[in-house]
Formats: sequence, structure tokens, C-alpha cells
Amino acid sequence: MAQLKSVDAVIVGAGFSGLYLLHLLRGQGFTTRVFERAAGVGGTWYWNRYPGARCDVESMQYSYSFDEELQQEWSWPEKYSAQPDILDYINHVAEKYQLSKDITFNTSVCRAHFDEISKQWKIVTDTGEVVKASHFIMATGCISTANLPNIPGTGDFGGKIYHTGKWPHEKVDFSGQSVGIIGTGSSGIQSIPVIAAEARHLTVFQRTPHWTVPARNVPMTDEYEKIWKKDYAERRAQMRYSPSGSLRSVAPIDISALDVSEEDREQAYRERWAAGGMTLLKSYNDLLTNDAANETAAKWVRQRIAGIVKDPKTADLLSPKTYPIGTKRLCLDTDYYEAFNRQNVELVDIVKEPIERITLNGLKIGDRTFAFDSIVFATGFDAMTGTLLRVDIQGRGGLTLQKKWEAGPRTYLGLMSEGFPNMYTITGPGSPSVKSNMMSSIEQHVELVVDTLMHLRENSIETIEPHRSAEDDWVEHVQEVANQTLFPKANSWYMGTNIPGKPQLFMPYIGGVGAYRRICEEVVADGYRGFAFEQKISEAAAAE
Ligand SMILES: Cc1cc2nc3c(=O)[nH]c(=O)nc-3n(C[C@H](O)[C@H](O)[C@H](O)COP(=O)(O)OP(=O)(O)OC[C@H]3O[C@@H](n4cnc5c(N)ncnc54)[C@H](O)[C@@H]3O)c2cc1C
Repeated sequence: MAQLKSVDAVIVGAGFSGLYLLHLLRGQGFTTRVFERAAGVGGTWYWNRYPGARCDVESMQYSYSFDEELQQEWSWPEKYSAQPDILDYINHVAEKYQLSKDITFNTSVCRAHFDEISKQWKIVTDTGEVVKASHFIMATGCISTANLPNIPGTGDFGGKIYHTGKWPHEKVDFSGQSVGIIGTGSSGIQSIPVIAAEARHLTVFQRTPHWTVPARNVPMTDEYEKIWKKDYAERRAQMRYSPSGSLRSVAPIDISALDVSEEDREQAYRERWAAGGMTLLKSYNDLLTNDAANETAAKWVRQRIAGIVKDPKTADLLSPKTYPIGTKRLCLDTDYYEAFNRQNVELVDIVKEPIERITLNGLKIGDRTFAFDSIVFATGFDAMTGTLLRVDIQGRGGLTLQKKWEAGPRTYLGLMSEGFPNMYTITGPGSPSVKSNMMSSIEQHVELVVDTLMHLRENSIETIEPHRSAEDDWVEHVQEVANQTLFPKANSWYMGTNIPGKPQLFMPYIGGVGAYRRICEEVVADGYRGFAFEQKISEAAAAE
């Protein structure tokens, strides 16, 4: 099929967001081009193939809900899906709806400029292709640009270097190897137990200990699958209006942790620790808003760590003490703390002993040298804004997105930014995004964007763009809501603090998935309150 050079919409990215966009827009008769820098579909689950990579939302909930046939026909092998199973699912979706034929792979969008005369975006790729589009949709993901810290000597290393977020497609065999892993965030926590079981020796370099709770992953049972599939549509409807875009297996307790006895708290925490998953943070209603309440849960988890890790010094080092539990993304693990009881695993505190440089044979810290066959960077991502700001995006009057967001991202509803007409960010900063089951948030944003494009088409509207005042109010509201919580107390990637020089402010909207959805519904019902429209000039009027 000939590739169109002028389309209704250009979509960047072929992860869950881009695929659903393509499916809906195509179904509504919009012409589209999709560009994806990877060689296949899947986004996060295409790139993050590291050992132990797994979803922390239950499989029955981390999947598309838009097609009853799709959700009934698919069976997940485990309660929490591993990366290969999610990628299988995404490939199945791409095949079922014949999506890949309309995606240009191995192609990055590097420039997008808005032309104020034609009201079109001119999009340029790294293969030199130029496409014009009325609408420019960044479905580029919140966690899609790997962060490789600038450690001197990285180029000198004679062994293999890996980043968890850009893992090779073939199996990496660590058996017999001495491996160093830098970083103990989510990807580190998932991969450390798996690499430790395979490698001859694993040295873990930790800057900040992360809070993690057991996932208690198990094979999917027919019974559990049937319970979900019996009333899937109804459950999905509840998820959409829930605080996190997902349903919990253990109900939240709607009182303060400080209004109950120590015995009651002990029982609640024990029950949730045993059930596994994120429910621990929902034990009481003020764990993420009140320091003293939070500390009851933090102290309880520190006691669990001390109970699992045999060496008291290592247990102490693994116990977070400098920020409240849950204010960096809580991790779900499988035998993370247990891995540190292995004879072949060593933990090094790089706050006390900073990494000096990477050498030909390994790594140097003060007087100590480490020899490695492989070094794994589990150092996370330039999240939320990193991927968007790496594209040269120019809106009205040559305003660049880099300039507009120099003090931090500015959006209305996390969806659009003033000065950039007809440009949309799926799960952009200022929307619930990474503070939710992202499948719920992705579906909501994709449907909202497609409904908006249909509204514009039906009403002969050429452009849509937020009013500055609506954007200002939303930016303020996002911070106001965050400041009512303990989240700003942590140096987290939610705050941008993992990237040197990045503006520090809380980027996702923490007001809740259901509350956010209602706000968007009200905005639309109120004639797209806060947005400015430019009407299409009819051909006759233009000729006058
Ligand atoms: C290790 C890891 C674990 C995660 N676990 C969970 C979880 O448990 N629960 C949860 O809800 N979410 C999780 N997430 C978040 C996850 O990113 C989302 O759930 C979801 O997969 C995002 O889909 P997306 O399509 O919006 O973005 P992505 O999947 O990130 O896809 C974006 C695509 O855009 C492409 N792209 C970016 N820039 C360009 C460009 N300039 N030109 C061309 N292509 C470009 C990228 O190559 C990528 O394929 C996790 C993320 C990571 C990294």
C-alpha cells in the first residue's frame, strides 16, 4: 500500500496507546500514519526483556477492555504477567485487528513543527520522510527513554554492558559469570533474584533502598479466570471509576491508621502482606497523607526485612529510612530480600562508597576494585517528559516544547499544551498516568482523543488548543493535590529528581483515575470547557 504523505493523524509509538489509537481512528475513517522506532509492536514490553520483567498489575486487569470478544478469548498463564506473555498478547492484538500493516517500524520521529497558515503539523523522521498531519499524537509512553548515568570510564569496560530498558532479544546467559548490577529500583528488584540464581557472583550497587512488597505471583487458575470473565464488563466499569484504575483483592479500610490499636494494625498489615500486591498501601486511608500513619506501615515492613535477611547489616542497608513508604512507586517482588541470603550476592552502598569509575575489568570504588564479566544498568528512565522533549517539537510562533516546559511540564488535563494546537499526549504529565493501572488510563485518553477528533470533524473545527488560564489552573491543581500527600517528600522519578538538571515537581495527577475521568467528562459535556476552537474557513469564504 502506498504510504500517505498527508494524513488526518500521525501517531508516534506502537505500544498499547498507539495500537488502540490506530484501531479506533482507522475505524472512524481517519487517515493515519504510525511511526515506531522499534522493529515491532509492544512499546515497554518490546524493550524491557530483562530477566524477571513482570507487570505489577494483575493480568486480568492489565489488558484492553474495549472488545468483549478479545477479553473473553485471551487466557493469561499467571496472576501477574511476565514480559514475554504481555508481548504475546500485544502481538495477538496487532494480528487480530491487522494493525502492523499500517505501522512504519524502525523509524523515529525527530521533528514536528506546526504551520500556522496551513494549520498542519509537518513531521520529519530519522529516515528522512516528511508527512503532514492535521493532528499529531504522541503515544510515546511515560517510561520509554532509558537513563544511563554518566559514570566515567563506561566506554573502557571490556565485558558486556546492558540496560534493563534496552535488553537484547536473545537470551543473555549469565551462568558462570561475575555480574555487577547498578540500581535497585523496580527493574533491579525484579531482575536481581533471577540473575543471582544464574550468575557465579552478583554484586548489587545500591544508592537508595526501595520499598518493595511480595507479589505472591501464582499460576492463573481456571476458577479465578472464570470469576473475572463472568462479569468482565461490569468489573471494567468499576475499574474505570476507581482511584487507581484497578480493583483490589483485599478491600481498603477507610479509617486512619492512627485510630486503631497496634494489634489491629498488625493484623491488617499481616493480612495484606500475605495476600501480596499493592494492597498494603490501602490498609488505611491516611498512609500516603500523614507521616505518623505512614511510619506505622514503614516500621512494620522494616521488621519484615529484618526477619527475612539474615545478615543484620545487609538488612539495615536494604531498609528505607529517608522517605515514606509508597512515595516512590511501590515495587512488587518475588524473593528479592531472600536473594541477599545467597552466598553469591553482595550489597554495596554507593552513598557511602561512590562509584569512582568503570574500568577495563569492572569497576573501582575507593581502594576497592571489582572484576565483572557483565555490568547491568538498572538505572531507570527519564520519565514522563524525557521522550517528549527529545523530539524537536515547535508550536505556534516557533515556540518549542523544550522552552515551554523549561520549568516543568505544562498541560491542561495532561492531554494538551497551550501553543501546540492539535497535539495530544497520551497519558501525558498532569494526568493519572503512572499513578494508575496504565491500561485504564491509556484507554480513557485514547477514547477521549478520538472522540475529540470526531467532534472537530463533525463541527468543522480546524484546531483545538487549551486556553492559557485553563492550563495555569490545571498545573496549579496538580501540584495542590500532590502537596496534600507525602509524595513530594521522596526523591523520585515522579518528581524528576533522578535526572540531573531536570525541573523538580510532581508530574502525574494524583487525584485518582475515577475523579480525573469525571473531570474530563464534565469538560466535554460543558462544550470542551477550557479549550479554544478555530473554525474551518469554508472554501467560499476563503475565496472572498
Ligand atoms: C519495566 C516497566 C514495567 C512496567 N510495569 C507496569 C505495570 O506493572 N503496570 C502499569 O500499569 N504500567 C507499567 N509500566 C508502564 C508501561 O509503560 C505502560 O503500562 C504501558 O505499556 C505504556 O504503553 P504506551 O503505549 O503508552 O507507551 P510505551 O509502551 O512506552 O510505547 C511507546 C512507544 O513509543 C516509541 N517511541 C518513543 N519515542 C518515539 C519517537 N520519537 N519516534 C518513534 N517511536 C517512538 C517507543 O519506541 C515505544 O515503543 C511499566 C513500564 C516499565 C518500563
